[in-house]
Amino acid sequence: MTTITNHLPTAELQALDAAHHMHPFTANGELAQKGARVITRAKGVYLTDSEGEEILDAMAGLWCVNIGYGRDELADVAARQMRELPYYNTFFQTTHVPAIALANKLAELAPGDLNHVFFAAGGSEANDTNIRMVRTYWANKGQPDKNIIISRKNAYHGSSVGSGSLGGMVHMHAQGGMPIPDIHHIDQPNWWAEGGDMSPEDFGLARAQELEKAILELGEDRVAAFIGEPIQGAGGVIVPPETYWPEIQRICDKYDILLIADEVICGFGRTGDWFGSQTVGIKPHIMTIAKGLSSGYAPIGGSIVCDEVAEVIAGGEFNHGYTYSGHPVAAAVALENLRILEEEGIVDHVRDVAAPYLKEKWEALADHPLVGEAKICGMMASIALTPDKASRAKFATEPGTVGYVCRDRCFANNLVMRHVGDRMIISPPLILTPADIDEMMRRIRKSLDEAHAELV
Ligand code: PLP
Repeated sequence: MTTITNHLPTAELQALDAAHHMHPFTANGELAQKGARVITRAKGVYLTDSEGEEILDAMAGLWCVNIGYGRDELADVAARQMRELPYYNTFFQTTHVPAIALANKLAELAPGDLNHVFFAAGGSEANDTNIRMVRTYWANKGQPDKNIIISRKNAYHGSSVGSGSLGGMVHMHAQGGMPIPDIHHIDQPNWWAEGGDMSPEDFGLARAQELEKAILELGEDRVAAFIGEPIQGAGGVIVPPETYWPEIQRICDKYDILLIADEVICGFGRTGDWFGSQTVGIKPHIMTIAKGLSSGYAPIGGSIVCDEVAEVIAGGEFNHGYTYSGHPVAAAVALENLRILEEEGIVDHVRDVAAPYLKEKWEALADHPLVGEAKICGMMASIALTPDKASRAKFATEPGTVGYVCRDRCFANNLVMRHVGDRMIISPPLILTPADIDEMMRRIRKSLDEAHAELV
C-alpha cells in the first residue's frame, strides 16, 4: 500500500481521498468533478496547499483558529500532556488537573455567575448537553412538562440529531428525521432578507416579540428555554437590529425561561469582547462554547452554566457525559490558547485595532455594484449580494448561484471566503494586522469585480 504523505502529487492525493474519505457538508458532485483542495500546512493567517499556493484564510478554518496557525506553544503543551496523562475520564467521581484548571479559568473569564463548566468535544455535543440539562433542570424543580426549547429558523447549533434539531436549517431538517419533538422555531432577525418595509429597529422588536407570542401559544409552563447565537454565524453572519436582544432578554425574564447563548462562534474574542453576550448585552443562564476555546487546535467544547442551574442539576445524578468530556490533552491545549489570548491582548487587539480598521474597509464594500448591505460585528462580517440595492432584490437565479460564483473567484484568488446562499461571509483569525486586512480586502474586491464581470 502507498505511504500517504504530503509529498505525493496532488492528483494522487485527490484520488486516494475520493476512494475512501466521506466529506461533511460537501457538494459531492463538484467534489467528484474537481477533487478536493489539499491543505498541507498553515502559519499565521495563511494556508498552503499541495500545489504550494498560499491562501489567505478569511474563515479561520471553520470560524475557530482565533490565535492563528502555527503556534508551537500549543503543540508543546499537547506533547507534554500526552506524556504525562494522555487520557483519563471525568466520570464516576474522578477528575484531573487540566479539567480543573480549564473549568476554573473559564469561570474567571465568563461574566456574572456563569461559574460551572460541563465539557464536551465540540459545539454539537455541548448543545445536546444543553437540551438535556435544561429539561433536567425543570424536571428536578418539579416541572417535567416545561421542556420545549425555542430556537430560530436559519440558526445553526450543530449537526448531531439534538443540536441539528435546535438549529433551524431547512436543508438539514430534510434529512435523517429532524427535528426531535418539543423544539419550536420562530423567525430570525434578518432585516435585509425579511424586513419588508419596516425599519430595522421595528423589525428587530417584532421578531423578538415572536418569542413572547410563542410562549403564550405553547404555554409558559411548557417552555424551558430559548437558544440563540448572539450573532448568527452559519446562517450568513446576520447582525440583528439593536432592538432585538434587549427585548429577548425582557421576555425570558418575564416568563422565567432559561436563556442559552450559543457562543461557539462569538466566544473568545470574535465580537471584540470575550463573549458575544457581552457585546449584545444579555445575561444568559448557559453559554455554549467550542471552536475559539482551543482555537481549533484540539477538539473541545462545553456549556458554561450559572450557579442556580448548576445547583439544581447537582441535586441528583445527571445521566449524561462523553468519553472525551474534559479530555486532558484538549483541556491543556485550550488553557494554553486562553493564556495566549489573554497575555498577548488579542481581545483588546480586536476591539481597539483590527475590528475598527476592518469595519471601515468592510462598510465601504457597500459601494460595489454587486453588494447590498455590508454588516459587521467585531471580526465576523457579511455582504448581501443583490441586483438592486434600493429594493433589496434577490437574484432571479436559484439562491446561492451568485454567491457560488463569488466564492469560486475568491478561491481562484487564493482567499477562503464562504457563501451562504447569495451572502458572502468572513470570520478571519483575530490576529489579523491592518496590513493583512488590506491584502484580504484587495483579494475580496478583485474577486467581486471578476464575479460582476462574469455575471453581467
Ligand atoms: N453552534 C454554533 C453557533 C456553530 O457555529 C457550530 C459550528 O459551526 C456549532 C454549534 C457546532 O459545533 P461543532 O461543529 O463543534 O459540533
